[in-house]
Amino acid sequence: MAATASPPAEAAAGSRVAPPALLERIRDEGRSPRRRALLVARLNRTDRLGALAQASESRHVHAEIARRLNNMVRQGDCYSMVSADEIWMLVDDLASEALGELAGRTLVETLGRPVAVRRASGDETIVGLRPVVGVATCEPLPVDDPLALVALASRAANQAARRDDRIKVLRLTVDEDALHRDEIERGLRIALNDNALDVHFQPQIDLHADRCVSAEALIRWIRPDGRSVDSGLIASICEERGMIGQLTQLVLNTSLRYQMFWKSRGLDIAVSLNLSAVSLADASFPDVVEQALTTWGVAGDRLTLELTESAIVQNEASAVGFMSRLKALGCKLAIDDFGTGYSSFSYLRQFPLDELKIDQCFVRNMVTDRGDAQIVRALIDLAHTFDLHALAEGVEDEQTIAALRGMGCDRVQGYHYSRALAPRDLPEFIEAFNGGRRDGPAVSAHSRPDVPA
Ligand code: C2E
Ligand code: MG
Ligand code: MG
Repeated sequence: MAATASPPAEAAAGSRVAPPALLERIRDEGRSPRRRALLVARLNRTDRLGALAQASESRHVHAEIARRLNNMVRQGDCYSMVSADEIWMLVDDLASEALGELAGRTLVETLGRPVAVRRASGDETIVGLRPVVGVATCEPLPVDDPLALVALASRAANQAARRDDRIKVLRLTVDEDALHRDEIERGLRIALNDNALDVHFQPQIDLHADRCVSAEALIRWIRPDGRSVDSGLIASICEERGMIGQLTQLVLNTSLRYQMFWKSRGLDIAVSLNLSAVSLADASFPDVVEQALTTWGVAGDRLTLELTESAIVQNEASAVGFMSRLKALGCKLAIDDFGTGYSSFSYLRQFPLDELKIDQCFVRNMVTDRGDAQIVRALIDLAHTFDLHALAEGVEDEQTIAALRGMGCDRVQGYHYSRALAPRDLPEFIEAFNGGRRDGPAVSAHSRPDVPA
């Protein structure tokens, strides 16, 4: 049942606090440590695109959200509405860690109920929310740095966006998290210096031509003990510990080297690379790309650079100049994971983008979830309105492909076609696919690639 939002009202005192006060409370509680959890919720309006034009409705939605949160929080707990889209909630004095997760699930449910808003015209409209919640639980120990807890909960929220239940719990233990990251950092430094990281390539399929003409480069690392490390974690540690420039250069040079090699065998494959916010802030990065293109003799238009919305937001002032320099080299630009961040029209108008990648969290269930299907359709139309290609990520079955075709989606990538492949397996996949031999999903090979001469 949707509750009709009353006009904006002040939230009850005591439960809603300003973000600095919430951070202060985390620190204060460190003096008499108790087990607690910090929840970071992102609202994700499902009608976000339509809602952008309706700022007055947003106020009503936020008033209703505040009302629900006031009802939900227990005495001693507090929450902050840190932006139009993000809420932090501190849940204190937990008898067990499982209660932190329970609070997270309750929050997903509380925020996920549709909100009915009465417009000035008297009509009623329903606003859907698709919240994700990251939970950082904390042992009964002092927390010196409250922002570490926020950062962990934010990371959990990023991971929650990729999960069906839209919640993820991460635990801040005595420094265990930091120790784990320290250990990975040490191994990564050695691996980067020894050139022991692999780049795998996930095929991207052009739905109009029904051909594979491009692939996304994704980092892969198998540690000496045989365990693999999550690529998102590798990228985030490299970003945090000052190694992302080295990682990006490795992926850039490895990709271009293979492109040159494949071309010498008659296969002209375009490659997409993921760029971090740090690269976007590096004014010399376009020169690095130019140098690498010259070194490997690859045309700029065979390279797409993927940027996320948050990377653009962090570098809004310099982003236009940065992107224009890459465009001058002939490179293409894609906006990655679209829909999970700010999803602002203004990026699409302001920046010289070529492709909009629709995040897999909307694509995964679009066949069974009408709301997700509507979002995907809206994003495809949005891309086309701004003359961009629409690429859907995370395509895992034939029905999803049929639905995407029906919506006019231009490109797809996903496990249905193939996981990321070792470089020596990619040409074989493409030749078979474009030659009409489709024997089912290919499997990722973890072997070290053959290095081209
Ligand atoms: P991304 O750029 O959005 O890459 C797509 C991710 O979705 C990849 O995960 C890919 O393996 C996965 N994926 C593709 N199709 C499917 C599917 O059908 N189902 C499911 N469940 N997953 C699918 P991966 O390789 O683990 O990478 C995760 C993230 O790590 C990437 O997300 C990207 O943000 C980051 N990353 C990976 N390699 C690099 C890199 O070289 N540099 C930087 N800066 N970030 C990287
Ligand atoms: Mg990507
Ligand atoms: Mg993506």
